[in-house]
Amino acid sequence: MTEAWPAMDVASRPARLRARLPDVGVDALLVSRLPNIRYLTGFSGSAALLLVTPDTLVFITDGRYETQAHEQLAAAGIDARIEIGVTSAAQHDLLAGAAAPHPRLGLEAHGVTWAEQRILAARIASEVVPTEGLVEDLRRVKDPGEVARIHAACTIADEALAELLPTLAATPREQDFAVELEYAMRRRGASAMSFDPIVAAGPNAAKPHARPSERRIESGELVVIDFGCIVDGYCSDMTRTVSVDDPGPDARRLWDLVAASQQAGRDAVRAGVACAEVDRASRAVIEDAGLGDRFVHGTGHGVGLEIHEAPRVARTAPGTLDVGTVVTVEPGVYLPGVGGVRIEDTVVVTEDGATPLTEAPKSLVVARH
Ligand code: ZN
Ligand code: ZN
Repeated sequence: MTEAWPAMDVASRPARLRARLPDVGVDALLVSRLPNIRYLTGFSGSAALLLVTPDTLVFITDGRYETQAHEQLAAAGIDARIEIGVTSAAQHDLLAGAAAPHPRLGLEAHGVTWAEQRILAARIASEVVPTEGLVEDLRRVKDPGEVARIHAACTIADEALAELLPTLAATPREQDFAVELEYAMRRRGASAMSFDPIVAAGPNAAKPHARPSERRIESGELVVIDFGCIVDGYCSDMTRTVSVDDPGPDARRLWDLVAASQQAGRDAVRAGVACAEVDRASRAVIEDAGLGDRFVHGTGHGVGLEIHEAPRVARTAPGTLDVGTVVTVEPGVYLPGVGGVRIEDTVVVTEDGATPLTEAPKSLVVARH
């Protein structure tokens, strides 16, 4: 499976980041968000700092990751000075030395705590200045290797759902179904879940982010199943809403409405379209049915090394979609105390539309076997 994926072009990424530093008025950038460090270097460990200067990369980690850092950076074609600091104080000293020639050092405003900012400002001679979304902006457009990994994660989710849907007929508890879904994805090669699966039936389906409970899933209830897994660092995300046996005319109408909204959103996705326009297209279908106030979240989000990343697909979202951007389209309607419907696909933006990466069939009633 792994051998079939196209390689990711990690080695070109630091240069593309460097090219942006003058625009935000910094001479060097301290990257501290781990997904950004992974994107720039291929390093998948849980502790690292990356200093990006105009002509060097300084990679700082602790002793646990010395071998892994050398292996992964070499495999990704990244030429960096790898420094090991056993304590955080030692790491700050290494950083202070490496940053010293650069008068203005950018920090990732969303990646450092207040305490860290204070320590860095005190330890480092450079002026520390906040930056936002520099690496995240690069990550918006995926290369073919990244899309292949997201697609692999989506396919695992598709297959796991196909395996498990027939078991709903036995009316399992929500949490038992969620556990089986997770196991089915891990058995197929997922390294982890993108997030804890949501399995929410009946009244629980009215809560967009319900946790699976001990409640049994009954015949005729709407069941929202929102889940995804991680393959080689990349996430998938998909929601299906199903019912064992006919859920009745009201639930059918609600499902048809959300399905139409989701299709309208998907139809709006193409390169050059504003993210807000995709939200508008999807939301209009639900608003026209008088249920706009029950669609209580954005229409979608970017997916990649993180389950929620740029761009947002929402009413107030800035920016447009580019070829190679991976986003979800996931409208939902939630009726408190009654139930809810959400339908979500992950798609990759193309010149003239979007290619779905999640391909599980959409049908409301689960066939009994
Ligand atoms: Zn989801
Ligand atoms: Zn999502």
